[in-house]
Amino acid sequence: MRYEGNIFRPPSEAYSLIVQVTIGCAHNDCTFCSMFKDKVFRVRPVGEVIEDLEGARRSCRSVRRIFLADGDALALSTDKLLAILGRIEELFPEVERVGVYGSPQDVLRKSPEELARLLAAGVGIIYIGAESGSDAVLRDVKKGATAAEIIEAIRKIEDAGIEASVTFISGLAGAAGWEDHAVMTGRMISESQPSYVGLLTLMLDPSAPIYADVQSGRFKLLSPMEVIDETALMIENTDIERDCVFRSNHASNYFSLKGTLPRDKERLLAELGAARGDEGLLKDERFRLL
Ligand code: SF4
Repeated sequence: MRYEGNIFRPPSEAYSLIVQVTIGCAHNDCTFCSMFKDKVFRVRPVGEVIEDLEGARRSCRSVRRIFLADGDALALSTDKLLAILGRIEELFPEVERVGVYGSPQDVLRKSPEELARLLAAGVGIIYIGAESGSDAVLRDVKKGATAAEIIEAIRKIEDAGIEASVTFISGLAGAAGWEDHAVMTGRMISESQPSYVGLLTLMLDPSAPIYADVQSGRFKLLSPMEVIDETALMIENTDIERDCVFRSNHASNYFSLKGTLPRDKERLLAELGAARGDEGLLKDERFRLL
């Protein structure tokens, strides 16, 4: 398997075979993100990807899951994705699920029929970075999509029968806009009803464009307790009718939360209440990781 540059994958793909079908991220403009700033986006030739898959087949006895990287593999044309997925099916008949990152715009460019064909060819989950439900925050961080577009994209994924795993970032609005960020993120989760929600906490690498604003004082990071308050307000504003697996147990989080909404909503809020009363329950800054 040939890899170019640093490889990123969602936590739930930790044991997956990772194959780069793109290099970098087509958008690459989000001000908080440093993942692909050193890469110029390009789509790898399908033949090259298939050579890598054939090589992996020779060295891997059993592969349960495959993750197509980099930033937004869903940017590929459906024909190219289907060619890769078809070869995966031939080489790895034991694979249970293929996952991809997809930007909201990538999803909206696909028709329902194209998404159905991707599902039939093995795509079981699409990871989509929503980051916030607030249009003001999305604009400030240059997400390149509005809240309405993100909700439409998540619904489109779920309507096609594919699971949507949606990431949000606590602290992304800083001290100035945390309430709007929390309330509107809760509402976005309610309106889009994804299968999975992952909540990270903002951590910045010096190469992230927003880092300079933190250094200059233009952007004030939330304190750990303010992150707890923001998370509680966000969960309070969720109103979900189906099971939604909620995880806030990433290395960047100050406090670990796991549950299924809506049934665990009160427990999650009670745990946050306990954390609010005991700073010792929060992760020390030194142990947080991106
Ligand atoms: S957050 Fe996602 S869409 Fe934004 S630049 Fe980073 S990889 Fe690209």
